[in-house]
Amino acid sequence: MDYSIREFPDLQFGTLYCIGRNYSDHIREMKSVETAVPVVFLKPRSSVIRSGDPILYPSASVEVHHEVELVLLLGNIPEKLTPENALTAIKAFAVGIDLTARDLQADAKKNGLPWAMAKGLKTFAPIGNFVEFDPEKTDLQNLDLRLTTDGEIRQSGNTEEMIFSVTQILCYLNQHFTLTPGDLIFTGTPEGVGPIAVNERITASAGHNLSLLETYVRA
Ligand code: MG
Repeated sequence: MDYSIREFPDLQFGTLYCIGRNYSDHIREMKSVETAVPVVFLKPRSSVIRSGDPILYPSASVEVHHEVELVLLLGNIPEKLTPENALTAIKAFAVGIDLTARDLQADAKKNGLPWAMAKGLKTFAPIGNFVEFDPEKTDLQNLDLRLTTDGEIRQSGNTEEMIFSVTQILCYLNQHFTLTPGDLIFTGTPEGVGPIAVNERITASAGHNLSLLETYVRA
């Protein structure tokens, strides 16, 4: 498998860190509870697909949900990462979908089991075009996130609603994990998550179409 990143050929996809429960309205719709520190889970990097690639509906689930999210691509990590310099670790950003087998996740939650099957199945990490991050041009805490299925808007939010900011997420992850250039961070989803269906066309965008993703669902 080729893990090189089209937009940055000298980088390869690394670890996919994902943050859960980072928007209050989504926590409410899930009847879940806020946490004192970010909820972290991982996806295999082989689950990444890019715009134009199909989502493969998994045989393991009958309830796959879309979760539109801001995705960060890490470049050089400061030797001593602080809240002041944390954003310099970000090479680029993109829109992404944290696909979730909600039925498997509900079972895992109920039984106190891991989320790997619910979150990490084949093609479960679609990602749009990467936009090089320039802090002078882009405020990562003020980006519109939008997702449509067959042309209908399903999710519409803004990264200003995050509970843990991008800076806080970076500091937290860096404290506990060895961050590496090429790593991705999925930063959580706003409300409006719902099921996807075979043959549906799905589009997602971040920052008024700065990053765009188009995909469709195949059996
Ligand atoms: Mg998510």
